[in-house]
Amino acid sequence: MISGELHAWHFANRDPIRIRWNRGIITSLEAVTDPPPREQWIAPGLFDLQINGYAGVDFQQNDLTREHLLKAVRSMRRDGCTRFLVALITDDWAHLVARLRWLRSLRARSVELKDAIAGWHIEGPFLSAEPGFHGAHDPEWMRDPSPELIEELRDASGDDPVLLTLAPERTGAVQAIDNAVSRGIIVSLGHTDASARLLQQAVAAGARGFTHLGNGCPRVLDRHDNILWRVLETPGLMVSIIPDRVHVSPPLFRLLHRLLDPDAIYYTSDAMAAAGSPPGKYQLGKLQLEVGPDQVVRQPGKQLFAGSALRPIDGVFRAAEMLQCAWQEVWPRFSTAPARLLGVRNELTVGQRASFCLLRFGAQHQLLEVEVPTASSDA
Ligand SMILES: [Zn+2]
Repeated sequence: MISGELHAWHFANRDPIRIRWNRGIITSLEAVTDPPPREQWIAPGLFDLQINGYAGVDFQQNDLTREHLLKAVRSMRRDGCTRFLVALITDDWAHLVARLRWLRSLRARSVELKDAIAGWHIEGPFLSAEPGFHGAHDPEWMRDPSPELIEELRDASGDDPVLLTLAPERTGAVQAIDNAVSRGIIVSLGHTDASARLLQQAVAAGARGFTHLGNGCPRVLDRHDNILWRVLETPGLMVSIIPDRVHVSPPLFRLLHRLLDPDAIYYTSDAMAAAGSPPGKYQLGKLQLEVGPDQVVRQPGKQLFAGSALRPIDGVFRAAEMLQCAWQEVWPRFSTAPARLLGVRNELTVGQRASFCLLRFGAQHQLLEVEVPTASSDA
């Protein structure tokens, strides 16, 4: 529906509203007194900055087609996620850049893909190769950043939003952050064991995020001095957390919310192909992974997690459950907050894109359905 109107509860102020949109843009949003017919709520579309794959489609493969991307995009939209960054992980640099150029060319030929794929998250290869810190990334392909590589990345991504996750302890990384930021790339730190001083230098050079805090590090850490404590003490970083109850334990999840400014947290699923799909065997690049009924993604024989099978919408409700608060309170951390880090607006206001979610709940306040009524389509 490129135009229409709806009567629902507004997720933020929890008042009844009537929203109208035309040609995919919100044209009016008015408070009304009569209550909506059902437990029907409206909220901005979910926005995930780290999607490695979805619905059986692995974005790390070389032979992806427009149909593959559309399958992932439509499945994400079915699950309430209207926009996301395609995450490309550590690989041979030339292959990584070629993959980016190819996916970008597919996106350029589709309105539907352009609407949903907000840009690119390049996670690697400038990461820590140390045990535990590299996670599922192959240390063989890791390398130091350079001004030439940053320029190549900018060239391959055009003027699309790019989030680059890197480890500031790599040789030349602080300079690379400066280069990247001056070319409009948003830098997030991650898969790193950087010292407090280096984290501060990275922030001073323009780094603004920290990628999936609590992950990308060994299971066992020094209680006196470790990357978690150092990040929590470094001001100026917007931190992403995977809210699936598994990547970060519920007590740590709650503690992070107590310690950090509420505006300094956003959620990401870090989803791979198994998200939005049944348990089974899935690819993440060259890795063969197993996903059990518990939705945990494992590398056979290893303890570390490799991405998640979390649907963003489930992340919202798991976060609310862990924090024992209403879903409306955490929703912005999976919608407006990540968009803000990217410099994109994703709000329920007149003039904004009408890519919002309609949520319907049952008598026991259980989510029955999420729908994005306004999506564009190539078909
Ligand atoms: Zn990672």
